[in-house]
Amino acid sequence: MGKALIIGAGGVANVVIHKCCQNPEVFEEICIASRTISKCNAIKAKLEGGQTKIQTAKVDANNTEMLIELINNFKPDIVINVALPYQDLTIMDACLATGVNYMDTANYEPLDTAKFEYKWQWAYREKFEKAGITALLGSGFDPGVTGVFSAYAQKHYFDEIHTIDIVDANAGDHGYPFATNFNPEINIREVTAKGSYFEDGKFIETEPMSIKRVYDLPEIGPKDIYLLHHEELESLALNIKGIKKMRFWMTFSESYLNHLKVLENVGMTSIEPIEFEGKQIVPLQFLKAVLPDPASLGPRTKGKTNIGCIFTGIKDGKEKTYYVYNVCDHQECYKEVGSQAISYTTGVPAMIGAMMLMTGKWNKPGVHNIEEFDPDPFMEQLNKQGLPWQESFSPNLID
Ligand code: NDP
Repeated sequence: MGKALIIGAGGVANVVIHKCCQNPEVFEEICIASRTISKCNAIKAKLEGGQTKIQTAKVDANNTEMLIELINNFKPDIVINVALPYQDLTIMDACLATGVNYMDTANYEPLDTAKFEYKWQWAYREKFEKAGITALLGSGFDPGVTGVFSAYAQKHYFDEIHTIDIVDANAGDHGYPFATNFNPEINIREVTAKGSYFEDGKFIETEPMSIKRVYDLPEIGPKDIYLLHHEELESLALNIKGIKKMRFWMTFSESYLNHLKVLENVGMTSIEPIEFEGKQIVPLQFLKAVLPDPASLGPRTKGKTNIGCIFTGIKDGKEKTYYVYNVCDHQECYKEVGSQAISYTTGVPAMIGAMMLMTGKWNKPGVHNIEEFDPDPFMEQLNKQGLPWQESFSPNLID
């Protein structure tokens, strides 16, 4: 059916590429392009020989001109951005210049400000619309599947959704005292930032990790969950009509939080550059270099993740609750694609998002968040591509 250019060759990209190769009728040809070409070649070597043709390229995705040249040479139908959030805008610029659809899994963040906001990418709405191309923002799990779950709840079960609690639980154990499950720099920026939740039309800021609950999750059991700000709350606040309150929760172990506190207290999580032996270094980037590479956690991680959304609202004048979630097993993921569940739960929806655009099931020129599209074909693919979902109509609610 077509060609996809995949930018990035990290944990998430590895899963996207495996999944594209499992769907060769859609992804006939792919190009894996990243900063370190040896990583692209290593993934290609694992998957070559199947029906999907694979090529690789070296690219600095901060450089729009280089990206334009690559796109003009390969002529993809879509660019799948699974590099880092810092590259979103340069890649969007290159897509605009070449008239190619764009997709990512995380919103743009300037390197020097740890702030998740869609304003930079939403500023491209008119340009994409005029160019007749689609940018699908946030097609990972959260953001991503959480937005699809919300659109699905809205379409099938509610006249009005009043509250959404997104719960992202990881009961996996990698055996290290401290390691992050995806890019450490992005992960630590996210969890050390202030929290916030949405209530009555506005966002209320909270101190980092200051709101905690215990939630009993299917197949995982009771876990400590902490309120965080998360980027999908910003778009869902606009796209789920009548929403009154929304919160995002993530599980953290006591050990993870203790290590993080110490690292923070000694200044290792700072993104302010410092002078060290005559060189400017960013403490958080140095920390990333000494922590285990998330890709190396795959073979060691045991246990399951459970990510889902709990909704309350009204249907036919009556109060209603609904919970939809996916449970994913770290070891099963590793067996299938050589990555743990965190990369898997991001990479599978990224491939499905690309599939939706490539097959024309989703086609809406402009810049759109995932919940703006019809959730049904995406939900169907989740069940087929390794992330089956389950539902409950009488979940426990979070106070
Ligand atoms: P990794 O750090 O494992 O991989 C990032 C890849 O991008 C690396 O191959 C890296 O190259 C490449 N890269 C970085 N900068 C450039 C550049 N300037 N030019 C070209 N390539 C570059 O990250 P993950 O795979 O864990 O995460 C990928 C994305 O997924 C991130 O944006 C992350 O925020 C997002 N994510 C989204 C989730 C969701 O549910 N929505 C959940 C988890 C992650 P090199 O190998 O040279 O370092």
